[in-house]
Amino acid sequence: MIYFDNNATTQIAPQVFEAMKPFLTDFYGNPSSAYTFGRETRQIVEKSRQQLASLIGAKEPNEIIFTSCGTESDNWAILGAIEANPEKKHIITTQVEHEAIRKVCERLEKKGHEITWLEVDEQGQLNLDELKTSLRPDTAIVSIMLANNETGILFPVKEIAEIIKANSDALFHVDGVNAVGKIPINLQETAIDLFSLSGHKFHAPKGIGALYLREGIKLPSFFTGGGQESGRRAGTEAVHQIVGLGTAAEMVKETEQKVSILRDKLEDFILQNISNTQLNGTSDRQKRLPNTSSIAFSNLNGEAILAKLNDIGVCVSTGSACNAENHVTSAVLRAMNIPYTEAMGTIRFSLGRFNTNEEVDFVIESLPKIVWELRQLAL
Ligand code: PLP
Repeated sequence: MIYFDNNATTQIAPQVFEAMKPFLTDFYGNPSSAYTFGRETRQIVEKSRQQLASLIGAKEPNEIIFTSCGTESDNWAILGAIEANPEKKHIITTQVEHEAIRKVCERLEKKGHEITWLEVDEQGQLNLDELKTSLRPDTAIVSIMLANNETGILFPVKEIAEIIKANSDALFHVDGVNAVGKIPINLQETAIDLFSLSGHKFHAPKGIGALYLREGIKLPSFFTGGGQESGRRAGTEAVHQIVGLGTAAEMVKETEQKVSILRDKLEDFILQNISNTQLNGTSDRQKRLPNTSSIAFSNLNGEAILAKLNDIGVCVSTGSACNAENHVTSAVLRAMNIPYTEAMGTIRFSLGRFNTNEEVDFVIESLPKIVWELRQLAL
């Protein structure tokens, strides 16, 4: 199998798995227990917190709170900010956020909150003047992603943070789920208040994520139970998952950044050699993740390309969702005004640390024929 869907999830790195194992078997102590067996697991939890803090440039490890996933972190940031500031009814976000933000904002909108949904242009970029003029005294929180999961487009969150802080009292949350592990992040250099991440996007297991809360920021907790009083999320910590996350964080720094070479090779080949293909969003590689290419194969059905690639063992994803009645293109591509015939034919290739040059070569050899055959059928 050739796995080019690393923005959906990633394989657990072998070293991560090895590091987790003892905490699934021998070292099963509860980190809150007072005896040595428990305290040893507390130490490893704190070491993992430190490893993660170091990866994202947090000032203090206790700015990190472990959660179950990126969705929980995102939901908590928004709902917590709203509950902590009941007099503020306004939220600013973008039209291209992941469902983990979009759906929670839609729900709040139905309950009477006012949401400003910032638009993007065809390049996938925000208009920062529009952001500035949208800020209000009753804006509770601004939530803007760092890297778009579908297109890989990066938003300038450092600059955005400065605009927000210079013009309002709003909290600034960044969904960093698809950026962590792919680009360097240093939160100390920014005025970001809250930052979400998720382990399974960078070779840690599923079921573990984190929310960074800048020193001094407190959000109400939505679970009540043990541990909460010490500033954690309530509940017994999943030590093995946390160790996996810490180890994966440590490994990011050690990993050679070869993924952009492979991505560039694949992207350049497709755009230069397969007719009627376009990159969705900016072609400026400085403004995109190094691993992602969202490419439109005009007038083809992305689902058909996906199926053909699947037949030869290649995993990718599409820019559309099909059901028996209709074809719905992705909200992200619609927000970018990508025409229907291109959005329908969009494939997202998202490469990762374990991909090889041979795998890219295999796809480069196979894809032109697949596209040619599908175009013949469409004639
Ligand atoms: N935010 C972004 C940008 C994502 O890409 C994802 C997952 O695809 C999430 C949030 C949700 O993360 P999780 O799958 O850990 O809940």
